[in-house]
Amino acid sequence: MSAPSSARAADTPVILTRALSKIYSPGSEAEVVALRGVDLRIGRGDFVAIMGPSGSGKSTLMNLIGCLDTPTSGVYECDGVDVSTLDKEALAELRRDKIGFVFQGFNLLPRMSALENVAMPLGYAQVKQAERTRRAQEALASVGLGERSSHRPSELSGGQQQRVAIARALINRPPILLADEPTGALDSKTGEEILALFKQLRDDDHTVVLITHDAEVAAHADRTFVMRDGELHATEQGTGNGESGIVESRSP
Ligand code: ADP
Ligand code: MG
Repeated sequence: MSAPSSARAADTPVILTRALSKIYSPGSEAEVVALRGVDLRIGRGDFVAIMGPSGSGKSTLMNLIGCLDTPTSGVYECDGVDVSTLDKEALAELRRDKIGFVFQGFNLLPRMSALENVAMPLGYAQVKQAERTRRAQEALASVGLGERSSHRPSELSGGQQQRVAIARALINRPPILLADEPTGALDSKTGEEILALFKQLRDDDHTVVLITHDAEVAAHADRTFVMRDGELHATEQGTGNGESGIVESRSP
């Protein structure tokens, strides 16, 4: 089963937000305006970084783009679908089919092998055991860990654990990969390997959204946005590393 799709042009942005805002505990003394009128447009095969200091709203934006939370106001269209029109079930389906998540702490299940971790998002009901194993093995091979499928997370290095998490994020072949500080727990050399993997995914037509507070990490993306106090700002072009051109997907 696939998420609802509407007739749409090939150049429909994969991620489109209009005046997206988020207020936590509105009207109370604890009120926090975490996002203010964010307009974001990201196309297929785009590798974008979102930077900003701690507390600027990066994770809030990621949670909205990932359909893990709902905005206070504004519109979010994921691959052409206005997510506010979806009920809970359809939203879960869209999340499963369209979005893969990668986190700083890998979030692997310690008692499961790499293969079992990667197969987790394949619903037991929908995908038979042999097919689960085949696809998980293939996903592990695609991140260079084909020989490590029976290892548990504790038997893998940090970089290898993050690659398992990336394989898990991609197992349902979603177009969008959302990564919140994915290199934050890695040394810089290992972090570079993860970033190289993201570029490979971008070249493979995935849309990669990388959230980081580290300018050196962000420099690997084709475009960088900066969050300040809940506002999203585009930066100068030319933040790419030379081998990757700037992807111009903004419309006038
Ligand atoms: P970042 O990821 O850039 O560090 P966040 O999106 O986590 O920023 O947070 C933005 C602002 O919203 C911060 O002031 C934070 O304290 C606040 N905030 C985040 N999550 C919640 C929440 N669940 N409830 C209330 N305030 C929150
Ligand atoms: Mg955060």
